[in-house]
Amino acid sequence: MIRLDRLLTRPQGYNAPRTRTINVGALISHIQRQGPVSRRDLARAIGLNPATVSKITNSLIADGVVMETGFGESATGRKPVLLTLNSSQHCIVAVNLDRTSVTCAVTDMSGEVTANVSLRAPDLHQTHVSFDMVDHCIELALAMVPPERSVLGIGVGAPGPLSMARGEIAAAGLPGWKDIPVRDRLEAKYHVPAFIDDRANTLALAEKWFGQARNEDDFIYVVVGRGIGLSIMSGCLLYRVGGDCPIQFGHTCIEVDGRSCACGRRGCLETYASLQAVVNQVHAALSRGEPSILADQPDIDPTDVAVAALQGDKLARDAFAEATRYLSEGIGNAINLFHPNLVFVNVHLPHPDVLMTPAAIEALAEHYPGTRFVLTSLDAVHSAAGSASLVLEGLYGSWA
Ligand SMILES: [Zn+2]
Repeated sequence: MIRLDRLLTRPQGYNAPRTRTINVGALISHIQRQGPVSRRDLARAIGLNPATVSKITNSLIADGVVMETGFGESATGRKPVLLTLNSSQHCIVAVNLDRTSVTCAVTDMSGEVTANVSLRAPDLHQTHVSFDMVDHCIELALAMVPPERSVLGIGVGAPGPLSMARGEIAAAGLPGWKDIPVRDRLEAKYHVPAFIDDRANTLALAEKWFGQARNEDDFIYVVVGRGIGLSIMSGCLLYRVGGDCPIQFGHTCIEVDGRSCACGRRGCLETYASLQAVVNQVHAALSRGEPSILADQPDIDPTDVAVAALQGDKLARDAFAEATRYLSEGIGNAINLFHPNLVFVNVHLPHPDVLMTPAAIEALAEHYPGTRFVLTSLDAVHSAAGSASLVLEGLYGSWA
């Protein structure tokens, strides 16, 4: 894969803290899976030098994230001290924010969800209602935190574009949230550090820190919902554009002079391949009088169309078939640009293969040999765990 960190000019000091964060993530993840484990075995397993492992683990012990727990065996010399996660002391509040729902999970240091709350709203477009709802969801989640545990921080994953630097969501991603200082409000109310990032990034982080990409340095993560997002993990580093506006993959042109897009341009990928595009095509076909089991349904959402497609409804199947074709082209473009070994495709449907069909994946795999594809669907709790990694990244990314 093309290593962006070697090609792009970044602000000085940008890479090193992130690299340390990845080291911390690898250490925490390994301790969680293999612990109790000695510092020496940690260094060997992760490929870090022993001095770096000692420095990081000593800081984690001082913070109460990791603790020493007895001694291991040694054929010669001193018995090594074993380390394990101190799961009883801290937790993280992780929020996954969507247009119509919010999920708030409580996780331990390894991203394991210990409690979660989900709330749905018919309309999140009223600014005060939407933020109040998130606030309420966090309060409900905090009520489930055992009193002996302290909250390390709050992580929020939300549809992009947004500004990590300002801690705000742009209206294009989540109407009604423009200019709300989400991070600052959360920090002021809960008195813990808060972090916010694009959901494609939090999902990619979840795979890197806690999921199927723990041992992968380079991969891309495509998210298909009402819009289309892309996250790039390159050399264990998540590529963020100046720490601010995420990559606008959904607004790359796939059809010159094509359909009008909300961004003001034409032919954007998400006007053809997103779930909103599928719904739009269904409405257009119904207005032309084409028959469908969806014809008498007042409100049609992407899941309704997916269910109709699974039931053999031609109109629904055609709408998905078109989206599948364009999505495959879009993913092909991303592969041509970044040459990843691994591609995650996350479709916000209970049955993601209605859009990203086995045949489409097979065709991509054939065209891009050596690239593996993992199809997944939106799991709000899993997404929230990704937001937890934001907190770990934010807290432990600035170690010297
Ligand atoms: Zn656009």
